Amino acid sequence: MKNFREDFPILNEEVRGQKLIYLDSAATSQRPLKVLEAVMKYDKEENGNPHRGSHTLSLRATEAFESVREKVREFLNARSTKEIIFTKNATEAINLVAYSYALNEVQKGDSIVITIAEHHANLVTWQQIAKKTGAELRFMYVDDQGRLPLEELHKIDETTKIVACTHMSNVLGSIFPVKEIIRKAHEVEAKVLIDGAQAVPHMPVDLQELDCDFYVFSGHKMYSLMGVGVLYGKEEILENMEPFLFGGDMIEYVYEQETSFNELPYKFEAGTQGVEGIVSLGAAIDYIREVTYPVIHEREMELTSYALQKLKALPYIKIVGPPDMEDRGAVVSFVVDGVHPHDVSMILDHYGVGVRAGHHCAQPLLRYLKVFSCSRASFAFYNTKEEIDVFVDKLDEVRRVMGYGSK
Ligand code: PMP
Repeated sequence: MKNFREDFPILNEEVRGQKLIYLDSAATSQRPLKVLEAVMKYDKEENGNPHRGSHTLSLRATEAFESVREKVREFLNARSTKEIIFTKNATEAINLVAYSYALNEVQKGDSIVITIAEHHANLVTWQQIAKKTGAELRFMYVDDQGRLPLEELHKIDETTKIVACTHMSNVLGSIFPVKEIIRKAHEVEAKVLIDGAQAVPHMPVDLQELDCDFYVFSGHKMYSLMGVGVLYGKEEILENMEPFLFGGDMIEYVYEQETSFNELPYKFEAGTQGVEGIVSLGAAIDYIREVTYPVIHEREMELTSYALQKLKALPYIKIVGPPDMEDRGAVVSFVVDGVHPHDVSMILDHYGVGVRAGHHCAQPLLRYLKVFSCSRASFAFYNTKEEIDVFVDKLDEVRRVMGYGSK
């Protein structure tokens, strides 16, 4: 099988004199050469301001930009490019829906239902909308293995106007039952936003099959540059929403006192967009297609299962999230008994191993689980079992440095 590591120059880096072992792809993935080269080509040959002129470079930039929109549409099986809106990241996409849809549609007496496992991007935003509108913010809770029991769906009822739920938790690694959630929400005519930030890098998403109303993700977790995200929304809903930001390109006619707005999707894309990021997203989609999701999935599941087994064998490790591989993605969070996660991360870094430490932008979840802070190793298909061996071996060293006997 092809050695995909060769596609990622950064994986040859040394950190503190050690070979880099990058186990933080859930925070941001690394970028393959093809993505970097696509951006370089765009800047060398095509850069102009899209939609802003009829000269050749502006037209080339427009073509580069709009061809990615079509690529995203096809990749996610959306019905129309009108449904694909470029944003800065997943966070901005959620805020767009919150401000342009929810603020106008939700009122006192209504409820917004989310899960306790939401990233702050999909929690604080709804909390603020609930405060502004007087609606109730209701939580669905995970069980002690970090899975969302279907019984929790009873929280979605006739008062519910919006359900917002992560496709895969960035802390627990669990994949949530989004199909059931979408079905239940639609039974009570609520709209559903799915946060796909941790899903799109790892699994194919078919929006027509899912039938959610909104879906969001960030490019930088799926091999493209930072600064680009996507909001998918059903055309008939987006059509009736007010613009989020105002300015150039989102208008049709502007008069001194009045403005008419551009058609979809431009109505939601005010100002010059991050075209390099968008170009890189197109190249990242091409790259995923080349590697293929089945290969990504198989390798990541093998790595995750291997890491889980090895970590579970250590008596001082507590796994935060499902202890087995059922409905689980390539994220393993854990607590090292007696050692603060920041110490774990700093000591591992001395051996070149990069893992994340802290609350992972999910403070309510960690408080609910009574964990408060944890470490997280996350994998991409470019990681290896040998890297996991080093990572797990060095946890003994972490315990030793902190004054404990190891195993
Ligand atoms: N949702 C989830 C599940 C995430 O993991 C993240 C990033 N950690 C976000 C939303 C926010 O992504 P961004 O910071 O790129 O907007």
